[in-house]
Amino acid sequence: METVADKRVVVVTGSTSGIGRGVAELLLSRGWRVVINSRSDDEVGESMAAANDDMIYARGDISHPQDCAQVVEAAISAWGRIDGLVNNAGTTAYVELDDIEGVTAEVWHRVLDVNVIGTWQMISAAMPYLKAAAPGRIVNIASVAGLRPVGSSVPYSVSKVAIVHMTSILGKVLGPDVLVNAVAPGLVDTAWTAEWSAVKENVAAAAPLRRVGQPQDIAAACEYLLNTNYTTGECIAVDGGMRLVV
Ligand code: NAD
Repeated sequence: METVADKRVVVVTGSTSGIGRGVAELLLSRGWRVVINSRSDDEVGESMAAANDDMIYARGDISHPQDCAQVVEAAISAWGRIDGLVNNAGTTAYVELDDIEGVTAEVWHRVLDVNVIGTWQMISAAMPYLKAAAPGRIVNIASVAGLRPVGSSVPYSVSKVAIVHMTSILGKVLGPDVLVNAVAPGLVDTAWTAEWSAVKENVAAAAPLRRVGQPQDIAAACEYLLNTNYTTGECIAVDGGMRLVV
C-alpha cells in the first residue's frame, strides 16, 4: 500500500503561469508532490503553495547555477527525494527569421542561457536524486520550432533544436536509471501567445485537430512521460497535427 512517504516528488520550472502551471496542477491532482518555480513571480507562487500541502514554491532563475541548486535543495529539504523534473522555463526574442542584423550576440546569449544552459543546469543539479530514484524521469519542454524551421526567432528555434538533441543524447547515456524525454508543443494558449490572435485563428483553421493547444494538452503528455517505463530519448509533438501542414 502506498504511504505518504512514497509520494513521488516532481520539480517543474517556470510553473507559476502557462504550460508549467498546467503541468504542476495536473501532477498535484494525480498525487505527486510538486515544487513550483519562477524567476520572480513570488506572490503567485507562494499563494499556489499556500493552498496545497503537497506544493512548495522555490524562487530561482535557472540561468544561474546557484539558483538551480537552491530549487533542488528546496525539494530535498521538504521531502527528501526527486523522482521527476519537468524543464519548462523558457524565454524568447521576437525577431523575424530573415532579420540577420536583429539577432545580436546579446540576444543569442539571453535565449541560450535560459533555454539550453538553464535546462542543463537544472538537470545537473537534480541528477544525483534522479539517479537515486531509479528510475528518475526528465521531461524537457521543447517546441515544434525545434522540429521545423519556424519560430519567434532563430535563437529560440535553435535553442529548442538543442533541447531535442540534448534529450536524445541523455536518453542514450542515462538509462536505465534516468529516462529522458521531451514534449514539443505547437501553439498553446498562454500569456506568451496572448497577443497572437491572427496566428491562433490560422492554427485553428489549418491544424488537423482544428484548435490551438491548451496547457492541459501539454500537461497530459508530460504526465505520460513521467510514468513511462520503456520510452527514452523521445520527443512527442503535441501540436494538433499542425507540423504536418506547415
Ligand atoms: P509563460 O510565459 O506562461 O511561461 C514561461 C515561464 O518560464 C514563466 O513562468 C517564466 O517566469 C518562466 N521563466 C522564464 N525564464 C525563466 C528563468 N530564467 N528562470 C525560471 N523561470 C523562468 O509561457 P508558456 O507558453 O507557458 O511557455 C512555457 C514553455 O513552453 C517555454 O519553454 C516555451 O518555450 C514552451 N512553448 C510554448 C509554446 C506556446 O505556444 N505557448 C509553444 C511551444 C513551446
